[in-house]
Amino acid sequence: MNSPVKQIRVRIAPSPTGSLHIGTARTALFNYIFAKQQSGVFIIRIEDTDKERSKKEFEDNILDGLSWLKIKPDEFYRQSERTEIYKKYIEKLIADGSAYISKEEAGEGKRSEVIRFKNPNKAVTFNDIIRGPITFETKDLGDFVIAKDLDTPLYHLAVVVDDHEMKISHVIRGEDHISNTPRQIMLLEAIGANIPTYAHLPLILAPDKSKLSKRHGAIAVTEYRENGFLPEAIVNFLAILGWSPQSRGEEENVLSFEDVVEKFELEKVSKSGAVFDIKKLEWINKQYIKKIPQEDLREIIREKILTWGLSISNEEMFVRSIPLITEKISTLNEASAVWQEELLFLEKSPKYDVEKLIWKDEGVFKTKENLSKILEIIQMIDSSEFSAERIKELIFPFADSVGRGGVLWPMRFSLTGQEKSPDPFMSAYLLGKDESILRISQAVNLLK
Ligand code: GLU
Repeated sequence: MNSPVKQIRVRIAPSPTGSLHIGTARTALFNYIFAKQQSGVFIIRIEDTDKERSKKEFEDNILDGLSWLKIKPDEFYRQSERTEIYKKYIEKLIADGSAYISKEEAGEGKRSEVIRFKNPNKAVTFNDIIRGPITFETKDLGDFVIAKDLDTPLYHLAVVVDDHEMKISHVIRGEDHISNTPRQIMLLEAIGANIPTYAHLPLILAPDKSKLSKRHGAIAVTEYRENGFLPEAIVNFLAILGWSPQSRGEEENVLSFEDVVEKFELEKVSKSGAVFDIKKLEWINKQYIKKIPQEDLREIIREKILTWGLSISNEEMFVRSIPLITEKISTLNEASAVWQEELLFLEKSPKYDVEKLIWKDEGVFKTKENLSKILEIIQMIDSSEFSAERIKELIFPFADSVGRGGVLWPMRFSLTGQEKSPDPFMSAYLLGKDESILRISQAVNLLK
């Protein structure tokens, strides 16, 4: 008879000594995907045994970031609440001779006690899902310290006890933990635990192939949230950081969470470091921004503009500008910059030096004539079909016949008074027929 299939149980075990790092988020995600795919259990375990470096604000930031990414745990633990459990294991290890209390020199003539593991000094081999068999000689590790005292376990002991108690089937974590694995396997053996299957994920690298750090820009997930990235985009981006589905073109970089769960294969995760390409993240983010329903997007953009301290005075013009803003941005925060740098003409009538209306050496007379003709054309267009395309369709042949610059420049400048703004047809469309007529007429009057 077959033995019952062992349940898949995985964990993310962050130490709350800093904000949720993008690398930790990726490790969490891979564990989460694996659990979902295998109908397993995903655990969050806060490893806060280091009382000096662990901070509640970092724990909050980590949990907040994971929940924003919709990485939800089935079970949750905090190591600082499990001291009694570790104590029992330490006592047992001491009782059966696998560990011992060691009196040591603590400086200034003082002596203190620590608890050391009795290293069996042997070769430890494990079969890493991603990297294949790995063997370590453990002699050099010596009798390493596993606890300061019965109530103060150190990292390796706490991890091992928890992985055993929580029946962890697969330890999926960063490559920086490979060298910790032999110590942990020896300890697992000493407490009589099953050895989980290990999978060490490649590091996330900066474009220059060095370890990703603060000097390369944002590394905390919550900073990406503040900068206007969407959680779906971050999840999508992280999922293909070190792993990729079989065949893929550009558009296959956009994968829903369900797609990822369906296609993900832990064995196919790459051994070599994964380069963090911010341009790719921005591109993916843009694709997700485009998926937001128009009305929701409008409200999000409104909020960004208002919290930036800018105003929105004309609702119709604002609504008309949403598709244009969407086209120009990769992050939601950029919406306020577009509003400020290119669309402020929607907020107030332009003020400009009249000479600026004149294209090169066209002269006052010619410019006035061209603007009058533009005005005539615009007046003819029915309000119901006042679109950028329609305006262009009617103005362009005229511009071509008398010279583009002399028509398009004064048209755009009379409408916006800005060096940088959308093209004249789009600008007219955004302003609407009446306001466009008003502004161009004013320009005509100014040209004497
Ligand atoms: N607490 C460790 C860390 O923050 C992770 C330990 C593990 O995954 O085994 O890097």
